[in-house]
Amino acid sequence: MFLTQLNPDQRQSAIATLGSQRFDVLVIGGGVNGVGAALDAASRGLKVALIESQDIAAGTSSRSSKLIHGGLRYLEQYDFKLVREALHERELLVSTLCPHLVKPVGFLFPLTEKFKERTYVGAGLAIYDALRGFQRALPWHKHLGQKQINEIAPSLRPDIIMGAIKYFDAQVDDARHTLAVARTAARHGAIIATRVSAQSLIREGKRVVGVNAKDLETGQSIAIKASVSVMCAGVWSDDLHEKFNLKAGYQVTMSKGIHIVLPGWAINSDAGIILKTPISVLFIIPWADKWIVGTTDTPYTGDRTKPLANLEDVQYIVDQANRVLTPAIKSEEIIGVYAGLRPLVANNKNSVTTRLSREHTVDRPAPGFVSIAGGKYTTYRVMGKDVIDLAVNELRKIIPESVTDKLPLIGADGYFALIQQVESISSESGLDIETIRHLLNRYGSMISEILDLIRQEPALAKKLTADLPYIKAEIYYAASHEGARTVEDVISRRTHIAFEANNGGIDLADAVAEIIAPVLGWSAMERKASVSSYESLVDRELAALDELLLDDEKINS
Ligand SMILES: Cc1cc2nc3c(=O)[nH]c(=O)nc-3n(C[C@H](O)[C@H](O)[C@H](O)COP(=O)(O)OP(=O)(O)OC[C@H]3O[C@@H](n4cnc5c(N)ncnc54)[C@H](O)[C@@H]3O)c2cc1C
Repeated sequence: MFLTQLNPDQRQSAIATLGSQRFDVLVIGGGVNGVGAALDAASRGLKVALIESQDIAAGTSSRSSKLIHGGLRYLEQYDFKLVREALHERELLVSTLCPHLVKPVGFLFPLTEKFKERTYVGAGLAIYDALRGFQRALPWHKHLGQKQINEIAPSLRPDIIMGAIKYFDAQVDDARHTLAVARTAARHGAIIATRVSAQSLIREGKRVVGVNAKDLETGQSIAIKASVSVMCAGVWSDDLHEKFNLKAGYQVTMSKGIHIVLPGWAINSDAGIILKTPISVLFIIPWADKWIVGTTDTPYTGDRTKPLANLEDVQYIVDQANRVLTPAIKSEEIIGVYAGLRPLVANNKNSVTTRLSREHTVDRPAPGFVSIAGGKYTTYRVMGKDVIDLAVNELRKIIPESVTDKLPLIGADGYFALIQQVESISSESGLDIETIRHLLNRYGSMISEILDLIRQEPALAKKLTADLPYIKAEIYYAASHEGARTVEDVISRRTHIAFEANNGGIDLADAVAEIIAPVLGWSAMERKASVSSYESLVDRELAALDELLLDDEKINS
């Protein structure tokens, strides 16, 4: 069995291995689809490497609505096959693959009209539930009258909301889940290296036999040899196709979606809320003691690495939510904001290389090179399987079928028992019950590694700050086990302090740097540079909120 730990020593040895060994499969991109492909291939017994130019999940995979869902809107397009597939994945994730990370969540679909809308939406939700079949981890939908709505969601405007239907989907901490898939792939032997970027292809005649990569931390060039390279680069796909001089069978356009984050007290509801909007749907999603509200859907052509929300994006979300909320959301209540880019795939006409499925596309633009793009977070496992099914044709040997539907992620084993043992774990460890629950829902059975750290250094049991649930051991663990290499990695992806704390968590950046500096072997200057780099990112990310507040001040003065 291989180690799951991602840390400086592991990275150094990964870089050395990348340049010295030959792989069956090299995956380019450490978003959910890349790590899903790496896990699929490694668990079929293949020799796998994955390179990611930033951090695991630093692209779209940490910036989603964090829902694992069948996609109600596809029902309106009569795409039952797609919905059934996504609901099947939802069930697998909630009950088997990672119950510590994917949880059921209830939503109210508010109705503004008594009969016609109830019949239409009710029929849709009945089909949605039925498509999952009768053996299911999530409850069936339920019709609610006005009295029940007032009890469940007093924040829904009683003057316009006549009724509601409650249904269930699931939610995920996307960045942590992507990381868990990466670590599970590492457990099955995949070599994982972040901050390593694919620069060009190594060719023998027409066949691609590997990738010339660059370690972005040292500038070192690495020639990585692989029988097949698998590109999972999301919104970077077009750029890489061009850089690699490949004629691809599809193109990826970008659509920006932003979310705002509100404190729990801003909306009084025991369930999430879904609203139809002129362009799509708006989700008001419970997120621990906060709300995530989104999203927008606007064409985008700017910087892929750090997409930003602008004033119009934030105003749109506030206006749409305020159609149904009382009291209305106020600008000054918004704690955080984040933006992400959807990779939307358009297939090139007459392409002979693409195999199209409604949601995602796999392509083989050259011998020894395959790629995948599109789809949604929920179906990452199917996408990983599909692209590796295509990739193994290049290996010219018989490769076993995918087993990822039977492969729980790290932390999943024993979770259902551990969550019933919260009290005994609490009294044994000396941590309070709430903290144990918080840790179990982030690390599952890997909680033992966090508790080990605390045993060695009891000061790590302390909270990072009184207002958030994170303890110092989690910050340390982010660098010692989870591959975090910067303050941003910890604040934005290993935790979600970036949008859960005021001002992007800038006030905590120094404390985070102090904890991870010894693990990463930082000098005082490196530590300062990592904090400064995070501070300047926050300035850019929160500019839209500052503008909104200024606008409000002008209106009110
Ligand atoms: C606003 C929004 C909300 C969404 N909500 C949901 C939802 O609720 N549920 C759902 O199911 N789906 C949702 N999605 C869709 C889902 O998030 C995406 O489909 C999914 O995350 C895409 O993953 P990916 O791995 O293809 O791309 P990414 O996560 O972007 O990964 C691509 C990776 O490739 C790396 N890379 C690029 N170039 C190179 C290179 N040269 N070398 C090495 N690495 C490279 C990048 O750094 C990046 O990490 C949402 C999307 C958005 C934008």
